[in-house]
Amino acid sequence: MKILKIDHLGVAVNSIAAGKNFWTDVLGLRFEGAETVAEQKVTTAFFPVGESEVELLESTAPDGPIAKYLEKKGEGIQHIAFRVENLEAALEELKAKGIQLIDAKPRRGAGGAKIAFIHPKAASGVLVELCERD
Ligand code: ZN
Repeated sequence: MKILKIDHLGVAVNSIAAGKNFWTDVLGLRFEGAETVAEQKVTTAFFPVGESEVELLESTAPDGPIAKYLEKKGEGIQHIAFRVENLEAALEELKAKGIQLIDAKPRRGAGGAKIAFIHPKAASGVLVELCERD
């Protein structure tokens, strides 16, 4: 597969409103706006950093994946996302290598991206997202 760059770092937060100031006022990053991905029970906020971004993730429901993450581990880096040239081909390659996936097929993420997660068990405990954008 061809990894193009680190697309973003996903940071789980209790509240985007409360957590946002560090990234903007302290680090001087630009807040690009928030978007809710209903299917994932999450609101995301993006802060571009050079060619990559920081993504803050706030849960919209107590049973969502980010709520569960916060319950177990508290706020912090939740996933790392690599941009790939062709997500479907990347997933086929990983399946052929017997890598444990969370998403066998691409699904829709924030900003209209196609995304899929690799299981942390396959990646030294790191939740890895692969994404493809037009
Ligand atoms: Zn992400």
